[in-house]
Amino acid sequence: MSSNPASNCTVTPAIRAKITAKIAHCIQLAERYFKIKLVVPTFNFKQRGRTAGTAYLQTNEMRFNLFMLKQDCEKFIEQVVPHEVAHLVVFQVYGSRPKPHGPEWTAIMEHLFNVEADRTHDFDVPSPKRLFIYQCDCQTHEFTAHRHGRAKRGTQYLCKRCKGHLAFVRAK
Ligand SMILES: [Zn+2]
Ligand SMILES: [Zn+2]
Repeated sequence: MSSNPASNCTVTPAIRAKITAKIAHCIQLAERYFKIKLVVPTFNFKQRGRTAGTAYLQTNEMRFNLFMLKQDCEKFIEQVVPHEVAHLVVFQVYGSRPKPHGPEWTAIMEHLFNVEADRTHDFDVPSPKRLFIYQCDCQTHEFTAHRHGRAKRGTQYLCKRCKGHLAFVRAK
């Protein structure tokens, strides 16, 4: 599945506000149900790689994957945000005993948040970075496509160790 350009988005203040509102809504539902006061989690976009999001129980923080958010903002906010909030609600209500995707988490997802309790998400993962091998007098170096482009356009790169010029060998 490739991403649909029409649904692409960046983290605008409006998107941040939508995420914040979704979190607040989920927390409110949980507070009403469990009849306790919950601490609203914070969020950032530090998540990388194949994971859509991670909930950090001790710091009450959620890390979201910007690459996946950009593919489909609506879907991400509808599915990934409640998924991670549910982990933090489980922790605040039950402590660290329940399994990550156990019955407590599933019940919160399906009965409170009304979201299908899938353990994972079907977002595309970032394609592996293309790398280019360069050589000096002492070792090989790996260049990103960006750096390789600059080298091709004439930027001279020197090895920090031997001070020799780096010459292109091959694409990795
Ligand atoms: Zn999870
Ligand atoms: Zn060198």
